[in-house]
Amino acid sequence: MRKTLYLKFLLAYLIFGFFGFTIVATFGSSMVLEHLKREKAETLYKEATLIANTYASDLYNNEISLDSVKPQMDSLSVYLDSVIWIINPSGRMILDTNTPVDLEHPRIVEDFNAAQPAGSYYTTGTFYDSFQEEMLSVFAPITSDFKVRGYVVIHTSLAALHSSGENILRISYIILVILFLLSLIILIFFTEMVYLPLRKITEATEQYAAGNLHYEFQVDSEDEIGYLAASLSYMASAIARSEDNQKKFIANVSHDFRSPLTSIRGYLEAMLDGTIPPELYEKYLKIVLNETERLTKLTNSLLTLNNLNTKGMVLEKMDFDINTVIRETAASLEGTCQQKHIAIELVLTGSRLYVRADMGKIQQVLYNLLDNAIKFSHNDSVIKIETTEKRSKVFISVKDSGIGIPKDSLKLIWDRFYKTDLSRGKDKKGTGLGLSITKEIIQAHNENINVISTEGVGSEFIFSLPLVDEDED
Ligand code: ADP
Repeated sequence: MRKTLYLKFLLAYLIFGFFGFTIVATFGSSMVLEHLKREKAETLYKEATLIANTYASDLYNNEISLDSVKPQMDSLSVYLDSVIWIINPSGRMILDTNTPVDLEHPRIVEDFNAAQPAGSYYTTGTFYDSFQEEMLSVFAPITSDFKVRGYVVIHTSLAALHSSGENILRISYIILVILFLLSLIILIFFTEMVYLPLRKITEATEQYAAGNLHYEFQVDSEDEIGYLAASLSYMASAIARSEDNQKKFIANVSHDFRSPLTSIRGYLEAMLDGTIPPELYEKYLKIVLNETERLTKLTNSLLTLNNLNTKGMVLEKMDFDINTVIRETAASLEGTCQQKHIAIELVLTGSRLYVRADMGKIQQVLYNLLDNAIKFSHNDSVIKIETTEKRSKVFISVKDSGIGIPKDSLKLIWDRFYKTDLSRGKDKKGTGLGLSITKEIIQAHNENINVISTEGVGSEFIFSLPLVDEDED
């Protein structure tokens, strides 16, 4: 199957060669022969006319004798490698360079008809059966006093023309063979530039299809085939990367599920076998409950993340007042804040600030950011939420003065399951999924979210939303 392209090209090459030879052999030989005949006839015709106008007409006018013309004609016929005749319109031979002059018994060419080869000054054939072999016969009329007195006919053997035609044809064949061999270069080019790279690409696709996504191959050309190979290899590496991410994701999920389950199981077993006395049950059951809460949170986050990914995030956009949503989110977390004596300061622009977005999802973003801010803030501190209006956008900032994020971790906090080392002690329930969900939601709105943070000083998360132009009256 894979060799078909090469075979097709080879077949086309052979067909090209075969037709080349056939055309030269059939049309070529007849064209060459025809050309040679015409050329020879032209030369002989010139000679014949010359003889007709000089010696022959002199002969007819009795200005010179036949005996004196004959030797000259003979030598001319040797020179021209042909037979020269002077013949009467009736067919009576006056002079023939092949035979001596015999006035007593003149030779008659039966049925001689000079008008027969009409429109042409030469004929081919045995010339009224006068010759054994095929001849090219050219004739020119001898005229005097506006009357045709006779003809000068020059015959030459066609065999000689045939053999020189064959010689020319032989040269054509040699040139054709050279051309055919030279056109092998095209075949070599095709093999090097198209066939071999294509085979490499096909082999690579087979490897990729078989699951070997790390298969490497090299096509060193900068044309379309090189581009195709590069795209293919890029595609494979992208798939491999996403497969690796998937594996990492599953490993993380499994790990995050396993640790709470292990602790739940440990405590329950300890209760059952009496290691934990009944009077301490309440304390440990609370821990177990906490762990199940963590599992619930993890499951919910995973489901949210999965929905965001699979649906390509369908947003239910509407116009709503972001200030109200901020106030409500802050209120819902008031209980947690009170435990840590944390105050939330709201610096909101205007009484109402309308934005166009998916309200449910933005509520989730605010909740995630505020939840983090509270988790990573020290007791007795202040969290500031601020809205600013700038060039048809609203910027929402959530700022805390908590533990901050180390510089190296700033880029990583958006990754799934990422938690900074600092935060692990402070937040045992964290899943590391909150910020990746937050970022996906904001990006789905074609907006941005950024973080400014200094380790030990605090963090500020700022995101933008599109402002709705509305008259506030
Ligand atoms: P988690 O559920 O663990 O909070 P997130 O994705 O929301 O997961 O956050 C990822 C990590 O980023 C956190 O574990 C924490 O290390 C860091 N982080 C997020 N917000 C803050 C903040 N306000 N202050 C300090 N660190 C933060």
